[in-house]
This record gives sequence, structure tokens and C-alpha cells, in this order.
Amino acid sequence: MKEDIPYKIYLSEEEMPTQWYNVRADMKKKPEPLLNPQTGKPFTHAELEPIFCKELVAQELDDQTKWFDIPEEVLNFYKMFRPSPLVHAKFLEKALDTPAKIFYKFEGNNTSGSHKLNSAIAQAYYAKKQGLKGVTTETGAGQWGTALSMACQHFGLDLKVYMVKCSYEQKPFRREVIRTFGASIVPSPSDTTEVGRKILAEHPGTTGSLGCAISEAVEAAVNNEGYRYELGSVLNQVLLHQTIIGLETQKALQKYNIKPDILIACTGGGSNLGGFATPFLGEMLRGEANYKIIGAEPASCPSFTRGKFAYDYCDTGMICPLAKMYTVGSQFIPSASHAGGLRFHGMSPVLSELYHQGLFEARAYEQTAIFEAAEIFARAEGTLPAPESSHAIRAAIDEALKCKETGEEKVIVFNLSGTGYFDLYAYKAFNDGTMGDYVPTDEEINTALERLPKI
Ligand SMILES: *Cc1c(COP(=O)(O)O)cnc(C)c1O
Repeated sequence: MKEDIPYKIYLSEEEMPTQWYNVRADMKKKPEPLLNPQTGKPFTHAELEPIFCKELVAQELDDQTKWFDIPEEVLNFYKMFRPSPLVHAKFLEKALDTPAKIFYKFEGNNTSGSHKLNSAIAQAYYAKKQGLKGVTTETGAGQWGTALSMACQHFGLDLKVYMVKCSYEQKPFRREVIRTFGASIVPSPSDTTEVGRKILAEHPGTTGSLGCAISEAVEAAVNNEGYRYELGSVLNQVLLHQTIIGLETQKALQKYNIKPDILIACTGGGSNLGGFATPFLGEMLRGEANYKIIGAEPASCPSFTRGKFAYDYCDTGMICPLAKMYTVGSQFIPSASHAGGLRFHGMSPVLSELYHQGLFEARAYEQTAIFEAAEIFARAEGTLPAPESSHAIRAAIDEALKCKETGEEKVIVFNLSGTGYFDLYAYKAFNDGTMGDYVPTDEEINTALERLPKI
């Protein structure tokens, strides 16, 4: 490691990667294909194209092409907020009194406040290129809806957002940002779709879930001429776009000859962990390097640590493709935790396969432990982290504290996926001491897992 590492390592615009990396090309055992729930057979291009944009379907189903060129229009948009800095967390190291070296890649430096804009702009670009009128989507905590509203506005596309009801009520300000960028937004489940009406009848008073909002958005896309559906996580295409994070991180580390030991990101559907870590996992798959990689998830929705590796629906309404993934069951409705972006029952099939092969580990954290980490980080580094990202911070702090005990100078790099300026009700609950921890019982998880489709 060089001695003169600046507090923030910036790459220049010229140094920004111009291709996305597809880790599936380096995997000997590939992730299992998406299955059509009607036929039980792998989805074909023709079957997926009524739902997703054509080029995105091609990316989704391609497990051979290692590098995809980033279109120039997307690169130009990226330059509004990229390359993002890799920060040497000197003040956090000092606060923890650890010999470990801690770095974080900061993805919150745009109005949407998270990494989601990296895929949103790519997805909007392909919709525009195809000549569509608009797209539909769901949003949980609101970050994806915000990101996609910015992206659709940039390309002049209409956007209909289905927002998980508890977030719609908890986060009125997100809603207004989305409307400012010109999208329309309804709380989900809503009575505007057949599947929404069905869920409302079965679970009156439900606060909704990502899975249920996805069902509604897909129905709205398929029933509206000139529309397609776009999803902010889980899918292979989303992980692909997000690799801009990991590729920039690799370059910035190389620039100062920093060799990471431990890489950490939080996991909802897996897009920021996938985007951050798959370039490094690729090195491991090719036998070039070895890292300890950790996915940090909420104990309230523990897909990796307590879920099953099985085919499951991606949505509560059971109309979406079946994916082989770590899941706590599509019928599992997680508690209304403050890390809304991590309340998805399943996990990226790519990451699920890599986890199954033992290439990385996962840890689950309870809510108050997350906010304790968020507070330590905010006070030391001066940035208010998103509750989701604070799962990664928790894991990084725990690893740094282990180094303090052993005296090891490990290099820890984590992804700070976003900021928490729209999560102040959550911070209020923490500061007031009224925040609870909710961990599902085995029985709750088993009940949902019993309803996994029989494949
Ligand atoms: C959405 C979101 C996540 C979780 O989604 P992944 O697809 O797992 O990355 C994490 N952090 C932030 C800030 C988010 O907005």
C-alpha cells in the first residue's frame, strides 16, 4: 500500500470503466435459468420480451458474454455523478482505534441517494431505444422509484410507480421527489390492478411488500400498450449494470496499490453486493486472487442465512418468473423494518449460486445493532448512511474490531450504497429509544417455505 493515500480517491472521467462485467461468463456452474411458471420450462427471449425491453432480455439470458459496452448516452449520464469516490475512512479507523485500514465506495452522491441510478439509467436508455412510451416499476423504500424517475425524465419516458404502502406512508418526501421528476405513483397493494385487489381481499390492512408491488407493476406493464416493466434488483441485468461500482473500486485500489482482504456490502435483492463484489469474485473464480467477501442482511428478512436454495416466485402474486435463489418464501411478509430496501424475500440467482458454491459468506443483523453502527459512522465520517447500507457498516465495524483484538492490519473495503436523509423517522425511532428488533420465528419462515412451488 502506498503511504500517500488521499482521503478520497477519485478516478478521472477518462479512467471510468466503459464496459460492464458479466460474472456468469466466468462461472463454470452457471446460475439456473428463470422458469416460466406456466410451462415450468426456461424462459425464452420471445416469452420475456412482452414484459422486459428487448436488449435487457438479451442481457438477462446471456451467460457467455463477459463484457458489455456501456452505451455512450449512459456513460454521459454517469458522468453527472461518477466516478464515485473511494473514501479512506480515517476518522472511523480512529474512532474504533483499530489497526485495520477501512475504505468505502460511496454510491450516495446523487439525488436519488443510492447506487440504483446506475441501473435505472441503463434500463431507461434501452426502453427509449426500443421506442417505448414508458415503463412501470415497484419501489420499496423509494430509492429505486426515485432513481428510475430521474432516468425516465432524462430520456422523456413516462413512468408509473407502485410504492410499497408502508413506505408510501413512512416516506412522503420520497414520493414528492418522484413526482417532481414527473412520474406517477400509487401505494401498493392498490385497487388499480387485479392482483392488487386480490391481495387486498386476502390480507386486508396489509402494509404491502416488494413482492406484491412487483406483481402490480408487471400487470400494469403487460396491460398497457407501449410499456414494459423494469426492476431495480435481483435480475442478472441489474447486477451487470451495477458492476460499474466494483470495476471503479478495483481501479481506485490499484492506483494506490491497495490489496483488500475483506469486501462487504449489504443485501436486499443483491444488486449492490453483486455490482460491488462480482468483479472481485471473478478474480476468485479465475484463480487470480482470494478475498473474504461478506453479504450483510437484515435478521428480519434473512434470505441467505435462514432461507432455502430453491425455485421460487419473484413476487407475492406468483405471476413473475421462477428463479432458483435463496428465499424465505414469496409468501413471507417481512415486518415493517426501517431498512425498506432489504425487505425482499429472495436473492439474486447469480449471488445465490456463488454463495451456494461457498465463494462468500453472509451475516444477519438486527435493526438496533444497525443503527448503532450508523451512528458511529455518521459521527466519525460525517455522512448519514442509509439504514440498508448500515448493515455493511455494521459488518465492517465488527471486522475492524476483531482486528483490534488480534492486532491484524487487514484492509476492509465496503460499499456505502446510499445516504439516509429520507430515513429520518427511522433515526428518530432510534434516537427516541423506541426502535424494536423483529426476528421471525422458525415457524413463520417454515410456513412460507411450505408454499414454495413444487419444481
Ligand atoms: C435498494 C437498496 C439496497 C438493497 O438493494 P440491493 O439490490 O441488494 O443492492 C441497499 N442499499 C440501498 C441504499 C438501497 O437503496
